[in-house]
Amino acid sequence: MLNIVLFGPPGSGKGTQSELIVKKYGLLHLSTGDLLRKHRGEGTDLGKLAQEYMDQGNLVPDAVVIKMVEDRIATESTAKGFIFDGFPRTVNQAQALDQMLLKYDLTITAMLSLEVEFSELRIRLRERGKTSGRKDDQDDAKIENRIKVYNQETTPVATYYEHQQKYVRIKGVGSIESIFQFITHELDALK
Ligand code: AMP
Repeated sequence: MLNIVLFGPPGSGKGTQSELIVKKYGLLHLSTGDLLRKHRGEGTDLGKLAQEYMDQGNLVPDAVVIKMVEDRIATESTAKGFIFDGFPRTVNQAQALDQMLLKYDLTITAMLSLEVEFSELRIRLRERGKTSGRKDDQDDAKIENRIKVYNQETTPVATYYEHQQKYVRIKGVGSIESIFQFITHELDALK
């Protein structure tokens, strides 16, 4: 069983690569960004609470996100494995994820980190903003804030997995197919 954390800054290609990983390995895709956007679309209390944070490019509070992931895992505990996309984004979330997986006798197999220069991310996010309809992709100040939040709050998560010897660097530039090849090379070795 593979349980993978796909890690990387906003715009590093986590969503795109997750789709390809899901197709090839049959894992269940758990994207906290997608789940939060779904809650917003449905106008749930959780969605309303998350809205302000998301529009500014800030992190939604840990307790809210952790509970949402916990609920999702509980309904899918028979999955072949999970691909976590956009989660964990804080060390607190990473610890909570380990705890919740433990309940099902599961662990994270590896954390794949998509490495992309910040100058390239800015270009990609602005480009995505033209079609994604995402407010947080359309405004330079919000993009800069997301990069700042990533540097301050999310990069320590890499160290957390490095200490567990689960941190795998993936060069996140090049064609979608070539990046996916790096990923499959790593995942096939882990299976
Ligand atoms: P994403 O689609 O992963 O870029 O996420 C979009 C937005 O949703 C982020 O900028 C945050 O506001 C929120 N979000 C997504 N995942 C998390 C998370 N794990 N922890 C806190 N906030 C999150």
